[in-house]
Amino acid sequence: MITKGKMLYEGKAKRVYDCVEDPKMCIVSYKDDATAFNGLKKGTIQDKGIVNNRVTNHLMKMLEKEGIPTHFVEELSDRETLVRKVRIVPLEVIVRNIASGSLSKRLGLPEGTRLDSTVLEFCYKDDALGDPMINEYHILAINLATKDEIHIISTYALRINDLLSEYLKSFNIELIDFKLEFGKLDDGTIVLADEISPDTCRFWDSVTKEKLDKDRFRQDLGNVEGAYQEILRRLMGE
Ligand code: 5GP
Repeated sequence: MITKGKMLYEGKAKRVYDCVEDPKMCIVSYKDDATAFNGLKKGTIQDKGIVNNRVTNHLMKMLEKEGIPTHFVEELSDRETLVRKVRIVPLEVIVRNIASGSLSKRLGLPEGTRLDSTVLEFCYKDDALGDPMINEYHILAINLATKDEIHIISTYALRINDLLSEYLKSFNIELIDFKLEFGKLDDGTIVLADEISPDTCRFWDSVTKEKLDKDRFRQDLGNVEGAYQEILRRLMGE
């Protein structure tokens, strides 16, 4: 029996609750609320919470099998998952294969430009500051993570990129870029946390280059719900 206790945190897309039966666990509940541009654009994407919960768990299970430690424990329902309680490292870890979004804007690269090598970026997870991009020196200077932790996080992020890119290719999905978050267990072990979903990744159809992710909401491209459902359908055959 798993019961939700006190709400510990409410973010833009998820709520996190204590697990009554086990203080080392939390229950994550995914919402349909959608925001973009640091909360300036708000809306609802019907059943997004279901898609993101199920897609995240599916991909985390695949990564676990390949040796990446994650916070995932057990899917409880369409929208709720039991995860290990972690202290989130306040970094957004971004991996890019193809130029898009803020990289295209910053470097003047047309969207879709193939990058000669993978790009790894860190942003300081702070809404009030607009999640500014930082480098390893900043991370050490303001003590967001140790040198060892940065090394572990970077190694996992690049390995996750290889595993996910290859896996998604078999479903005709091209992984353009994505954002990861990591957490620390009580003993300091780093594990993959948060989500891997159309909210946090750019997914393009490999052939048509159609966008199948949150850019449809950000850019008002229409058929937002359809794109989320399409990712679920391709991965889970539903
Ligand atoms: P960009 O920096 O181009 O806006 O985003 C790069 C990648 O990271 C995209 O796949 C985007 O979805 C993801 N990403 C970056 N920051 C955030 C964020 O604050 N929230 C979410 N959901 N995804 C983000």
